[in-house]
Amino acid sequence: MTAHSIVYEGKAKILYTTDDPNVLLTYFKDDATAFNAQKRGSIAGKGEMNCAISSHLFQLLETQGIATHWLGRPAPNEMQVQAVKILPLEVVLRNIAAGSLCQQTGIPLGTVLKEPLVEFYYKNDSLGDPLLTPDRLRLLELATPEQVEQLRSTALQINQVLTGFFQKCGITLVDFKLEFGLDANQRLLLADEISPDTCRLWNQADSDPSQRVLDKDRFRHDLGNVEAAYRQVLDRVLAQPVQP
Ligand code: UDP
Repeated sequence: MTAHSIVYEGKAKILYTTDDPNVLLTYFKDDATAFNAQKRGSIAGKGEMNCAISSHLFQLLETQGIATHWLGRPAPNEMQVQAVKILPLEVVLRNIAAGSLCQQTGIPLGTVLKEPLVEFYYKNDSLGDPLLTPDRLRLLELATPEQVEQLRSTALQINQVLTGFFQKCGITLVDFKLEFGLDANQRLLLADEISPDTCRLWNQADSDPSQRVLDKDRFRHDLGNVEAAYRQVLDRVLAQPVQP
């Protein structure tokens, strides 16, 4: 399928139209940004690795009954996806305290949460992606109350599948961000990507707080060996079959 015009260019991906109006092509770039694009760089091979990891995880989720936008991977850096209207929400799921949760609540890094925490952020770069309260979520009407409930329950279901999968890889799924979209029939589909760019992943074989990090925190905090960490995730993920 030939790619046509650019629909949207983001920080890590480019979205193209195709011959089919219901199908888009995502090109995964090596570019990396952090802290709302204040830090910029490149991670060699990241596009291809994230495309492969995401494709594998979307297929895994599909086998577990989660509807996703994934259709195929026609080239190493390319993912074919169903066209959806992305909801301007970032759904964050946390199993272990890290990142902004620690900064904003004082909960120590690495604290295992009694139950998974689901959070909604407003996907709006100029506002700095603020955390939404349930009332603000209603006020902004970014999704209907029914959709919000569906997002919450789907995120928890995804967490169960991914936590179990990463466990088999010897990796702890600390937290992750999801994006969802609506297809032409208003069906909610998991969209975007699931990769070391959007998850915190800790190597269970390493207890050292900086050594164990296998995700974008290596780039964010200049921990070094970023490519090698992504490659470890790739190798371990691909070694586990999609079908249980
Ligand atoms: N995350 C993301 N994109 C964002 C913000 C967060 O993919 O724009 C992911 C991040 O990689 C982590 C989780 O969501 O796995 C929770 O991020 P957090 O709120 O702790 O923000 P951060 O500390 O990364 O700023």
